[in-house]
Amino acid sequence: MKPALVLVGRPNVGKSTLFNRLTRSRDAIVADIPGLTRDRHYGQGRLGDKPYLVVDTGGFEPMVTEGILHKMAEQTRQAIDEADMVLFIVDGRTGLTPHDKIIAGQLRKTGRKIILVVNKTEGMTSSAVTAEFHELGLGDPCAISAAHGDNVNDLVELALANFTLPHENEEIENHPKIAIVGRPNVGKSTLVNTLLGEERVIAFDQPGTTRDSIYIDFDRNGRHYTLIDTAGLRRQGKVIETAEKFSVIKTLQAIEDANVVVLVLDAKNEISDQDAHIAGFILEAGRALVLAVNKWDGLEDYQRDTIKSAIARKLSFLLNFAKVHYISALYGTGMKGILPSINAAYAAAMARLPTPKLTRALLAAVEKQQPPRAGVSRPKLRYAHQGGSNPPLIIIHGNGLDRVPQTYQRYLENMFRESFQLEGTPLRVEFRTGS
Ligand code: GDP
Ligand code: GDP
Repeated sequence: MKPALVLVGRPNVGKSTLFNRLTRSRDAIVADIPGLTRDRHYGQGRLGDKPYLVVDTGGFEPMVTEGILHKMAEQTRQAIDEADMVLFIVDGRTGLTPHDKIIAGQLRKTGRKIILVVNKTEGMTSSAVTAEFHELGLGDPCAISAAHGDNVNDLVELALANFTLPHENEEIENHPKIAIVGRPNVGKSTLVNTLLGEERVIAFDQPGTTRDSIYIDFDRNGRHYTLIDTAGLRRQGKVIETAEKFSVIKTLQAIEDANVVVLVLDAKNEISDQDAHIAGFILEAGRALVLAVNKWDGLEDYQRDTIKSAIARKLSFLLNFAKVHYISALYGTGMKGILPSINAAYAAAMARLPTPKLTRALLAAVEKQQPPRAGVSRPKLRYAHQGGSNPPLIIIHGNGLDRVPQTYQRYLENMFRESFQLEGTPLRVEFRTGS
């Protein structure tokens, strides 16, 4: 699993600046997707071949006992509990403050692994600026400048030093690994029960924290599957998941660890920002996806129309590849198509696309519609090959490709999707000029 780095510190020390820098590597991938809602508090990054998750806790007001700030503090506490590494940020220009000391005291009590990060140290001698922070008793401070990027890679390297690389699941897993995700109460555990039927007897009293998903292996129609069940802690067979205990980190890690995600939505409620954030994450992670619109039972036609148009409006960026199923997990209706869609999405995500076939499809598409002229010349698309899978990555070689407009890139994406039956998976098309 990808380690979760959690940023903690009082307001204005530079947490969101650092967050943006740590997650920038992924931005390029999704920057141009219309309608995608991103959650500013959760992001993904990569240092070399080491991927990680980043959580920005916003603020930390340990003294407040009620109201919205108290709620935030609760969320911060949960994020800290679930952190693989806490990055405690202080401000090297302001120096050590009483507020920092209070936070440090609370952090020490949690027993989590902590790195003390002194920010805003550009142009300063790091030993001089970090000296006073030793008093916090959190070990050697690491001096960085989030705004300028100084030392940020070293910080990440330090933070990730003790985590082994998650293996690339496409090489090792050769069966669908399905994460069932969605916000609280949409019906995830009901769906898991319905999917598994009798097999659900498997060990339920697994110990764990809020953040552990449950992995369940099962066989169906001669195929092997692993279900990643994110639906909360179970005690004595009872599912405990309240809105407060919903773990975003767990959801993100399950998405990353899966090769197919089932996003469960609740047709009896509105499509919320939280739904859209989770959806954005699935897309960002490049995971194959099946949408399950649950609680389809007992709705009037107009209600069904309302929810369909809300999905079209808010989750449009999923609909060009994900199959949608309208189900009732509780009554078991609409379920027949789910596993076949999962199989198809898995096959698409893992598809092997031979260079000659890709190139033939590319050239046929160019013949049908040329890319627009850019300046004096027209971009020249020569051949295509597959650069990766899960999600499939198609690399197009040629000349002047940096001038191919996004609309044309979409045209090619859609063409590849159709030609190679890549339904259910995101698809990435990259251009490489020269070779
Ligand atoms: P947050 O409240 O902890 O999320 O802090 P922000 O990231 O919003 O940053 C607070 C202020 O500090 C902003 O004006 C940033 O531009 C500034 N800032 C952040 N990082 C640095 C840095 O490395 N050097 C300097 N000089 N300013 C920084
Ligand atoms: P989770 O928090 O996402 O795991 O959601 P649960 O599976 O615990 O379901 C939350 C509530 O929704 C429970 O009361 C379920 O009985 C109910 N529920 C789940 N699926 C359906 C469904 O298809 N139709 C209806 N009407 N209720 C459902």
